[in-house]
Amino acid sequence: MPTVADAVAVLERHYPPETAESWDAVGLVCGDPADEIRRVLFCVDVVEATVAEALDAGVQLVVAHHPLLLRGVHGVPATSYKGRIVHRLIRAGAALYVAHTNADVANPGVSDALAARLGLLGVRPLVPAAIEGTGTGRIGELDPPLPLREFVALAARALPATAGGVRASGDPDRLISRVAVCGGAGDSFLAAATASGAGVYLTADLRHHPVSEHAEAGGPALVDVAHWASERPGLDDAAALLRAGLGTDTVETLVSDLVTDPWVLHGAAAPSAPPKETSSTP
Ligand SMILES: [Zn+2]
Repeated sequence: MPTVADAVAVLERHYPPETAESWDAVGLVCGDPADEIRRVLFCVDVVEATVAEALDAGVQLVVAHHPLLLRGVHGVPATSYKGRIVHRLIRAGAALYVAHTNADVANPGVSDALAARLGLLGVRPLVPAAIEGTGTGRIGELDPPLPLREFVALAARALPATAGGVRASGDPDRLISRVAVCGGAGDSFLAAATASGAGVYLTADLRHHPVSEHAEAGGPALVDVAHWASERPGLDDAAALLRAGLGTDTVETLVSDLVTDPWVLHGAAAPSAPPKETSSTP
């Protein structure tokens, strides 16, 4: 029977911890490396709901994308929600492991899964890292090219549904062939997306001013999707890598489809029609 340590070894072969950003907090959060594992749950966020899902399923290991404990931690009392999560996991004999920015830059990584869902061809890193094929974000080609409005519909179909849905900035008729993507909050790569020659850049957590300024400067169209939806596809690859690395049938992997995006409602009123141009003839 494989152990937590065996799973960590496989995950760290694909997602080396030293490739994580310096501010990140990846690796084993709680759990005994010597414990045996039979069932593993993969999720984007370690929150009350995904922990309940994991424990109901009887897993011995939760592999999460986002760190539970990122900033300075001075205690994990069960009176705080994060402390409660740590207590629940330890009491149930379940370990917690995090692969975050190291899973973003890996190949296959989080943005590869996103590119695959969109059917992109010739996929390569948007911001390459030292090792061939790795890096942040991906670019690829759409064949055939699609107008932006159809690309948005494609993204909405291809990604898991969320309350936030998919929104876009740009000319709806702009023909898109090259696509840049970045799972998670990707607004720091707007300039890289422009430099890549992409017709559209799809990422999450985009904000008014960066988007407005980017659009005014004539950059690629932008598609903003829910953060969770942009990272959920990568969990399937992570689960497959773990199964392959441990030898098939030794562990069962589950992937959480609980939508942990914090936005739960979306009110969409149609924008008011632009003012009619007044004719100069009476
Ligand atoms: Zn993220």
